[in-house]
Amino acid sequence: MTDRVNLLDFDRAALEHYFVSLGESAFRARQVMKWVYQRRITDFGAMTDLGKNLRQRLGDVAEVRLPDIMADRTSTDGTRKWLLSVPGGSAIETVFIPETDRGTLCVSSQVGCSLNCTFCATARQGYNRNLTTGEIIAQLVIAERHLAPRYGERAITNVVMMGMGEPLLNYDAVVPAMRLMLDDLSFGLSRRRVTLSTAGVVPGIDRLAKDCPVSLAVSLHAPNDALRTEIVPLNRKYGIATLLDACKRYLAGDNRRRITFEYVMLRGVNDHERHARELVSLLQGVPAKVNLIPFNPSPGIDYECSDATDIDRFRERLLAAGIVTITRKTRGDDIDAACGQLAGSVLDRTRRSARLQASRA
Ligand code: SAH
Repeated sequence: MTDRVNLLDFDRAALEHYFVSLGESAFRARQVMKWVYQRRITDFGAMTDLGKNLRQRLGDVAEVRLPDIMADRTSTDGTRKWLLSVPGGSAIETVFIPETDRGTLCVSSQVGCSLNCTFCATARQGYNRNLTTGEIIAQLVIAERHLAPRYGERAITNVVMMGMGEPLLNYDAVVPAMRLMLDDLSFGLSRRRVTLSTAGVVPGIDRLAKDCPVSLAVSLHAPNDALRTEIVPLNRKYGIATLLDACKRYLAGDNRRRITFEYVMLRGVNDHERHARELVSLLQGVPAKVNLIPFNPSPGIDYECSDATDIDRFRERLLAAGIVTITRKTRGDDIDAACGQLAGSVLDRTRRSARLQASRA
């Protein structure tokens, strides 16, 4: 461990504040951000426009700290997954999904997850801690270095906060990291191209609307409270009606924007025609898109994916009601990089994995 300040923990405002606290001009923040995020230089000695004294001083008190890469695997479909070690003995996963017209990075926000959704591999791992802003933004820095190593090149056109963890339960680190994703001096992505996905942390949705209104995806997965509470236990705290009200507030009457609702297709659980009908009436009056996600299996999780014909039929029902609906293509499942398969290596502090093992023995 090190007691140096990690400059990746600061968004632009915080970095300006940091330089002022060192008795330097706030302008230094711009210079350093350009070096780190655009020129991909992390060694202060090479930041030639900073002046020798400042370079030396930064070398003593600060650093640009990136997690070590423990594994780097590429799927037959081109999806790439990095396993990154983070202090405390755990590891997190980051996934790049290339498509013809874009490159999407799926970013983790926590080491494990505390929410316990019944179909998700990350939940099985238990929970260790929140990631820092630096550990979140480092996932973009590392991916860019591998994918587009030359200055001026960019591989990441979109970011989805859909990796391990619940981003709205790590609000104070996630928001500065997303500000860096949006900042022209770092990644310069538009708000439309940064998506935060939540299992439905209602107070976080309202805060986000004020602080950093990126695209919002909500993991709905069921059309009524009884079923949703069964598979997304957070629903007990924030039920569907409360959640949908927050979604409407989030859009604040801007009729060009929509909420994306994710719906994992679980055979015999939530994929019946009556569920589709219920979903249609539920989403009346909510500007919505629906993403149907074929369930991806993981060891120890006792669900099956719906039949392709049932997924198609479900989609047709929503489409017939005028709801834009797509079925998400499964990517990277041969390297366990698909939705819900990210598990990293979590030193569980909740003892959930031990309890699960005991209950199975
Ligand atoms: N906690 C946030 C961020 C995780 S996003 C959230 O719940 O939205 C990961 C997405 O993959 C979520 O929509 C999640 O519900 C979905 N998912 C989880 N397990 C899955 C599985 N086994 N198969 C397909 N999708 C899954």
